[in-house]
Amino acid sequence: MPPIADNIAEFEKRLSGTGCRLIAVTKTKPVEMLREAYAAGCKRFGENRVQEMTEKQPQLPADVEWHLIGHLQTNKVKYIAPFVALVHSVDSLKLLREIDKQAAKNQRVIDCLLQIFIAQEETKFGLDFAEAEALLASGEVEKLPNIRIVGLMGMATFTENREQVKQEFRRLKQFFEKMKTSPLPVNVSMRELSMGMSGDYEMAVEEGSTLIRVGSAIFGERKA
Ligand SMILES: *Cc1c(COP(=O)(O)O)cnc(C)c1O
Repeated sequence: MPPIADNIAEFEKRLSGTGCRLIAVTKTKPVEMLREAYAAGCKRFGENRVQEMTEKQPQLPADVEWHLIGHLQTNKVKYIAPFVALVHSVDSLKLLREIDKQAAKNQRVIDCLLQIFIAQEETKFGLDFAEAEALLASGEVEKLPNIRIVGLMGMATFTENREQVKQEFRRLKQFFEKMKTSPLPVNVSMRELSMGMSGDYEMAVEEGSTLIRVGSAIFGERKA
């Protein structure tokens, strides 16, 4: 694999002019690799585990944006609330309330995405379209002044069937556009669409992603 800096430069080139930004997914990777990515100009990192993110965060410069992309348990929110830039994986009102509470304690407003279930798989977390609509229309989100919902996140099915993946991204984008033109709470805006990983980012960008989450294509395969 070419060096990390080359991979990042390659991604930046591919994304230039698309309106889509790169999040370097650094889960399981040592801090030295994050430093290497940072030196190459990458300041957005995605981690899926709270403990790993809180361990790495103080070891990198303060201008790094930390993106929590994995499932988040309510009892762990307090550890990331002081610094997290964007929580991609919000899938319940209960979790939103806890993020709001911890954000208030830190005198912050924390940006969140609703994670939408688009894959034909049992194992992925998320809300379905109807649940997401119901949450946004519940009257509860606007009672949480220390959170902002800024868009949606989704993961496509892990499959060789590219047409299926494309359709899943397309449906998420359509829902995103529909929500954009619906009446939304004051603290909700639809501007970020987080979709696409190493194996499917090209399709995600074509279908309108604004944030791709790429790990192995930059840092190499992870050990299982
Ligand atoms: C691990 C992970 C990624 C990145 O996966 P790669 O295939 O290594 O690019 C993206 N999104 C989420 C939610 C992940 O957990």
